[in-house]
Amino acid sequence: MSRYSVFAVAREAFRNHTGWQRAWRSPEPKRRYDVVIVGAGGHGLATAYYLGKNHGIRNVAVIEKGWLGGGNTGRNTTIIRSNYLQDPSAAIYEKSRALYENLSQDLNYNVMFSPRGVMMLAQTEHEVRGYRRTAQANALQGVETEFITPERVKELCPIIETRGPRYPVLGALWQPRGGTARHDAVAWGYARKCSEMGMDILQRCEVTGVTTEGGRVTGVTTTRGDIGCGKLGIVVAGHSGHLAAMAGFRLPIESVALQALVSEPIKPCMDVVVMANTVHGYMSQSDKGEMVIGGGADGYNNYTQRGSFHHIEETVRALIETFPMISRLKMLRQWGGIVDMTGDRSPILSKTPVEGIFINCGWGTGGFKAIPGSGWGFAELMAKGESPLCAAFGLERFREGRFVDESVAAGVAH
Ligand SMILES: Cc1cc2nc3c(=O)[nH]c(=O)nc-3n(C[C@H](O)[C@H](O)[C@H](O)COP(=O)(O)OP(=O)(O)OC[C@H]3O[C@@H](n4cnc5c(N)ncnc54)[C@H](O)[C@@H]3O)c2cc1C
Repeated sequence: MSRYSVFAVAREAFRNHTGWQRAWRSPEPKRRYDVVIVGAGGHGLATAYYLGKNHGIRNVAVIEKGWLGGGNTGRNTTIIRSNYLQDPSAAIYEKSRALYENLSQDLNYNVMFSPRGVMMLAQTEHEVRGYRRTAQANALQGVETEFITPERVKELCPIIETRGPRYPVLGALWQPRGGTARHDAVAWGYARKCSEMGMDILQRCEVTGVTTEGGRVTGVTTTRGDIGCGKLGIVVAGHSGHLAAMAGFRLPIESVALQALVSEPIKPCMDVVVMANTVHGYMSQSDKGEMVIGGGADGYNNYTQRGSFHHIEETVRALIETFPMISRLKMLRQWGGIVDMTGDRSPILSKTPVEGIFINCGWGTGGFKAIPGSGWGFAELMAKGESPLCAAFGLERFREGRFVDESVAAGVAH
């Protein structure tokens, strides 16, 4: 695979861009792989990449029923932050954020990481107390955050109305190195590197069954034939319950559609990411100028993967109090993705009751930011059978009542 560089762009400019190679191969499935990953979202692809890069395991297939990155990875609002409360969460999210800092160089693919700063507004006394506590926890965890005043909020983001009638801004939790990245590029960059290492990415190939023998995984049945494997990683977000059922175990996961929308593009007016959890909305401005707006989840479990109209009104009405200038914007697009929610709002990175099957899910409304860290840890878990990054996120925590409670940090978890 030839390297992307400024020289490559210049060279191709002189030959009408006829020399670019395909970013990844579209191979026929082999009969057997050492490792099969189900789900070519960010987490599945990152797992495959770090299996190859960190552990030398390259006889790997990533199986995807649609197109790679077409699930939640290509549908999210791209917020990256690591200001979580509990130590195990801060560790994995900060590892991830740190990997994002150099991901473009590592993958030789511009993922457009933009550490423009993320602020979480405190609009009630309860939130002020919560975020002050998180800032102190973050200081102990080595995560750079601070609690800032309403005046500083206004300075960083002049379009915010800090004296709103119902929910004035009382301060904010500010993470200066949080930000955004281009979601498709993250999936594409990992996919390109996996393909370069000789791994097979099998798109339009749905896993329809899991085969086992004597309590151990032997392979999967797919719409493109049976594929044998030594180890199986299930990384399918909202569809985790279905895959677990195929393998004969149950998961504490609920699947629900999470909503987002973007406005028409306007001139630059906001160069930070703002999350307003009390009114339940969050907003950033994309490089194209669109205001990227995230809303809530549908109030009922479903797999519809499409926008729901009542959320447009709810989300926009909520945000207008804090951002009056958006009241005249026209909406361009709205969509939804099926997110996988656990009771403690923390992920599951775990072995399962079936020998050789590992599960990575439960990232819910906030797993885009975790893609590099999750891939790093889950690859280690699959390769070695244990990983310090994943230790607290095993399935057994639900039986033992050892939750990693992030419901405050992750009420709106993006
Ligand atoms: C609207 C919205 C906004 C969000 N905003 C943010 C945000 O700002 N910041 C943040 O950090 N997170 C955010 N998230 C969450 C984030 O997008 C997800 O947590 C993350 O992308 C999950 O990645 P994944 O790789 O686990 O899943 P996915 O990207 O969904 O990939 C799973 C893949 O598995 C495939 N699959 C399913 N079943 C099968 C099968 N039987 N056979 C083969 N393949 C199968 C699917 O087709 C899919 O491509 C948001 C999510 C949504 C929906």
